[in-house]
Amino acid sequence: MRQLSFILWMVLCLLLSGVSGCENDPPAPKYNTKHTIIIVVDGPRWSETWGNPQHTFIPYRDTAIRPYSRFYSFCYNDGETVTNSGHTAITTGVYESVENSGQELPTLPGIFHCYRKFTGALPEKTWVVASKDKLNILAGSKDTTVMQYAPRYDCGINGPGSGYRDDTTTCRVALNVLRTHQPDMMLINFKEPDASGHTGVWPLYISGVRSSDSLVHVIWNYVRNSPYYKHNTTIIITNDHGRHTDGNQDGFRSHGDNCEGCKHIELLIAGPDVIAGEEQQRVSQRDIARTVSTLMGFRMPTGDGKLLPLR
Ligand SMILES: [Zn+2]
Ligand SMILES: [Zn+2]
Repeated sequence: MRQLSFILWMVLCLLLSGVSGCENDPPAPKYNTKHTIIIVVDGPRWSETWGNPQHTFIPYRDTAIRPYSRFYSFCYNDGETVTNSGHTAITTGVYESVENSGQELPTLPGIFHCYRKFTGALPEKTWVVASKDKLNILAGSKDTTVMQYAPRYDCGINGPGSGYRDDTTTCRVALNVLRTHQPDMMLINFKEPDASGHTGVWPLYISGVRSSDSLVHVIWNYVRNSPYYKHNTTIIITNDHGRHTDGNQDGFRSHGDNCEGCKHIELLIAGPDVIAGEEQQRVSQRDIARTVSTLMGFRMPTGDGKLLPLR
């Protein structure tokens, strides 16, 4: 009898220790993000965005967006500073050398595939909308097992191989997709100022910095005023790469090496899970994917990045 009491006592202790063990676990962080919109402004140099002391060429980001955003002063593309590799770093969370004309898919799945696989969301709930036709690669992966989870895309004049289209068209398409499909996750690419920067004509490049700034603001206004999106949407504004520092090669005309001008990119995040303010910690472009998966509560086992500091 005494032996039986002892066994019962031991079982009770084990049960209680199990309960207290659960109680001691830190609670899983809760995030309020239900939707994420990533806007990639293609290839502005830091010196013409936030490195300009008066932020002269990005008045909308400066006055209407930054006050509501977490602003990262030191965000870097630590991979290849070209369009396709920069964009795939954003979506896959991995730095990979991806051929830049659109002929090569990223090796790993992106945020769209992982989100759809985890949640069962329909294809039209995830979108890539891009001025550059070649960015349809963001909807693909060399891992063919995830292609059943591919997002929808609307890229270039008429899909892959059709050429770049105007950013105003991309903005219109993006608004139409937002209204029609109410996606949970979307990446929008504006080709400016990269497309005009490659002409080497300074006024055209600056005009591209300004025009993309105003279109970012159009998307921002839609999301921030939409009853469906305004309380639960994280908006991420960033670049795929910068451009050469003056004195390095042909300066603002090109990009693609490891100079400060090419690597230093902008990053602003606004939404229900961030506190507005400036973040001085050095962060990396590939951290965006991990941050999106964490905020939206899905698993992304293949990404290398870290959760960005949000508050
Ligand atoms: Zn680019
Ligand atoms: Zn460079």
